[in-house]
Amino acid sequence: MATVTTGSSRVGRALRPTTKALPGHTRVHNRSLVLAHLFHVGPSSRADIARSTGLTRVTVSDLVGDLVAEGLVAEVGVRTDGRVGKPATIVAMRTDDLVVVAVDLTDDEVLRGAILTLVGDVVTRAERPLAGSTGEDALDLVEDLCRELLASADRPVVGLGIASPGVIDPDGVVVQAPNRGWYQVPLAARLSARLGVSVHVANDANTRALAEFTYGDAAGQGVLVLTVGAGVGAGIVVDGALVRGRHQAAGEIGHVTVVDPRDEQPLPCACGRTGCLETVLSVPALRRRTAGLDRESSDAALASAGRLLGMALAPVVSALDLAEVLLSGPPELLDGPLREAALETIRERTMPVIGSGLSLRLGSLGEDVALAGAAVLVLSGQLGVT
Ligand SMILES: [Zn+2]
Repeated sequence: MATVTTGSSRVGRALRPTTKALPGHTRVHNRSLVLAHLFHVGPSSRADIARSTGLTRVTVSDLVGDLVAEGLVAEVGVRTDGRVGKPATIVAMRTDDLVVVAVDLTDDEVLRGAILTLVGDVVTRAERPLAGSTGEDALDLVEDLCRELLASADRPVVGLGIASPGVIDPDGVVVQAPNRGWYQVPLAARLSARLGVSVHVANDANTRALAEFTYGDAAGQGVLVLTVGAGVGAGIVVDGALVRGRHQAAGEIGHVTVVDPRDEQPLPCACGRTGCLETVLSVPALRRRTAGLDRESSDAALASAGRLLGMALAPVVSALDLAEVLLSGPPELLDGPLREAALETIRERTMPVIGSGLSLRLGSLGEDVALAGAAVLVLSGQLGVT
């Protein structure tokens, strides 16, 4: 019998499926149900899978047979729990024997990539300095980094996931990413054709929200993950599903105007207007705001940025009745007076039933969160594990 390490194969909660299975897709849908069960619950018998998915024993045995043949699932032993009758064979998803290539294009200076197991553990890393490249040059660097990672994989690669800044459509087309000079770039199709692997691309803030939900401990009923980096953006999961919006731009709160000219001089923003949340809250903006100040003044400057963040978030928290807001970015800037002032402001401005129970904290996944989210894109896009 195959021996496979399955120690860490129990992972997270399931995202609510957002597409309905059509009759012709039943087999694909059922296959996803089996994989999702094994991914989230861990090693199980065929009877366990049948019980939890509602599929018949025959259908489950058939699907498991196919998955074993494909190398996605393995028989890992028998359950000897003292029950009368034939011991049940246990099957498991080969979460440590298969890998995903993940790339994070969020940073303005360096493209980061890694090979991850299906449970989100990093196996190897690689980087490419962006060195001011944009447009076609930047795309070549992305391709080059993906090639290096694919070549270094020592296990079968399930797919390639990319977290990109900008507005990304469901087919992996970068509709616009102004900082990279990309407009209507079919990034997923282009890389898939050139690299011979399935490619899934999504907005970086959305991938962070997916990672905190799948691998972290974010509340599935309603969480907003706010990414604070060179820019400011958010990914939102409500009722177990990512909120996308009409233009795939849900969560773009970085360009909501928050600075009142009567309080402080609004600064120009990359979007062409002035006083956007991003001009106050991005990492460069926070560093400028606190540069050269003593501790007390620096704390006051961070708290004033936190109040503006709270003003921008209060209507969002109210409209969606969110349970949690997670901040993803440098803890030394975010986790202190800024976070406290933001939470206080949200509570002042929302109904007690919503604001009083709200949690506002730092994300649990640290700096690899975008890479982990890119891996989730592959799990859901490639294997149907959501
Ligand atoms: Zn702006």
